Amino acid sequence: MSKQAAEKQNIDPFKPYKGRFESYHSIPKKGRDQEDIFKELSTMAEEENAKWKTGQVSGTFYHAGDAHRAFLNKIFSLFSHENTIQFDLCPSMFKMESEIISMAAKMLNGDAVKDNNPEDEVCGTITSGGTESIMMAMKAYRDQAKVEKGIKYPEIIMPHTGHPAFDKSEEYFGIKMVHIPVSAPDFLVDPAAAESRINKNTVAIVGSAGNYPYGLIDPLDKLSDIALKYKIGVHVDGCLGGFIFPWIEKLGYDIPTFDFRLPGLTSMSADTHKYGFALKGTSVVLYRNNNLRRYQYFNVPDWPGGMYASPTAAGSRSGGLTAATWAAMVYLGEEGYLKAAKSIMTVADSIKKGIEEIAELALIGKPTFVISFRSDDVDIFHVNDFMKTKGWRFNVLQLPPALHFCVTMPQTFVPDIAERFIEDLQAGVEYAKSKAGTVAETTALYGLAGTIEGNQQVTELVFGFFDYLYSV
Ligand SMILES: *Cc1c(COP(=O)(O)O)cnc(C)c1O
Repeated sequence: MSKQAAEKQNIDPFKPYKGRFESYHSIPKKGRDQEDIFKELSTMAEEENAKWKTGQVSGTFYHAGDAHRAFLNKIFSLFSHENTIQFDLCPSMFKMESEIISMAAKMLNGDAVKDNNPEDEVCGTITSGGTESIMMAMKAYRDQAKVEKGIKYPEIIMPHTGHPAFDKSEEYFGIKMVHIPVSAPDFLVDPAAAESRINKNTVAIVGSAGNYPYGLIDPLDKLSDIALKYKIGVHVDGCLGGFIFPWIEKLGYDIPTFDFRLPGLTSMSADTHKYGFALKGTSVVLYRNNNLRRYQYFNVPDWPGGMYASPTAAGSRSGGLTAATWAAMVYLGEEGYLKAAKSIMTVADSIKKGIEEIAELALIGKPTFVISFRSDDVDIFHVNDFMKTKGWRFNVLQLPPALHFCVTMPQTFVPDIAERFIEDLQAGVEYAKSKAGTVAETTALYGLAGTIEGNQQVTELVFGFFDYLYSV
């Protein structure tokens, strides 16, 4: 159903199935027919698939096509009931996880660490996603600093563009995150500003490859040098770029060094469930050496339930996800990843070129596969309002207002997607001109944050929205 048709019938776009399908407040007395359930859920899945199949949705859906997804689902079903932490009953799990880690480490030039210290060897764990990978690394730095340096109140320096998972680590683990602002023209973190915030409690610096707002790679070489000078760690957040930058680089694009070739880099997160093209629910966190990884592990030796140990935040995890991730990597191979990166960059390059030719718009930094842009001439949020009516879904950026489009495989399956993108964008700029002086719909959502009061208001609204979503 189109958004307009839904609105006409007064259907809430966040609860479009209300009234169409049974809502369950409690477990049904009598179970339902399997076929019937399958039919109902297929309807939902198909309607939701229709949204990204147009190629008009930024990011979000990272997979390499229907056949690829069907293959992973088949693999998933073999191990869906297995538990990764039952290493005695399910030995295939650690076989596959150790190999995923090794393959990711090699892809990110893990062998280079031996040049600096022959005893180092990149290692890691599999987690449930980028957030957990980041949080595990932050915990490792906190605990290492406590044990090895006696630091009680650890601080970590991060660019303001770093992912909120770092701030989640502050809230969950009591690590102080020191934000360094980024600004025009390059929107990258200023290494001198980061260095100026180092004190005796600083345990690590964070940089992104690339960051979520702009897809840009921070000046990681400089951050690496600073970290070596002060003997602190560097975490590179490669959740988004970790599985695509290696191939973009191999294709000949000139991008900054972002991986274990940097001598100061001590940990890195890279999401298999983004450009690794695995199923949602897996990510890799890598460490320069096992000494640091050890601070991530957890164990209760004297629990009445037996010896309990787990390497990550999660307890049980589905073996299906591990197997599907392993299968995705082995099935695609270097050749498959290179091919995917090439198709993605072909679309992204056309979009970039088109935006550069629109006088009112300015690209942010030197984009690769995430293309972010802003405007000094029109309200970019008016442009977003217009693009929405054409079926496009951008990611809305704030402080400063901007939009981004993250190119994934679904775009590469739609011919002429870049041409249509630019055509609609040009019309969007004209629309924004005609609306000058009025408040955009997008502004109503994004205009509040940035002040203490505004931030509190936004949080109140968002939490209320969660409450609403969780109501049956
Ligand atoms: C997606 C992403 C993450 C982690 O997100 P998850 O949703 O937890 O996988 C971290 N950093 C960046 C830059 C990302 O794009």
